[in-house]
Amino acid sequence: MTACGICGAQLAGADFLYNAQGQPSCSRCADRTDLADTDRRAAGNIVKAGWASLGAGIAAFACGMMFLGIITWLVAASSIVSAVFCFLGFGRDSQRFKNLLTDGQRATALTCSVIGLLFSALAVLGVATLIGLRLMGLPS
Ligand SMILES: [Zn+2]
Repeated sequence: MTACGICGAQLAGADFLYNAQGQPSCSRCADRTDLADTDRRAAGNIVKAGWASLGAGIAAFACGMMFLGIITWLVAASSIVSAVFCFLGFGRDSQRFKNLLTDGQRATALTCSVIGLLFSALAVLGVATLIGLRLMGLPS
């Protein structure tokens, strides 16, 4: 007999699985661990999306200042997509992710998304380009 490494239930013969940590576990615990892993990954992706939005937003702003035209729009679009993913993640599944992310992580992700969007908006609206022109001493 083998005991489930998580709930301790006695497992007969072929009635157990190994989880990602190599512990034997019953199928019920294996399912639950799988779900928790998936949720944790999803929650982590939401935070990453926040940072991605911020990074792309700043990049879009920089592209605007360097008169990169269509590239500015593409980079801004990717920032907006990341920000939307972040907002949707918190909106739809906020209850599910509540225990997986600290308040600080959630605040960071949301703040990053908002700032990313702001930079993207400034880039798309041409404000970054105006600043670029000003820096080069050209009339704007
Ligand atoms: Zn178990």
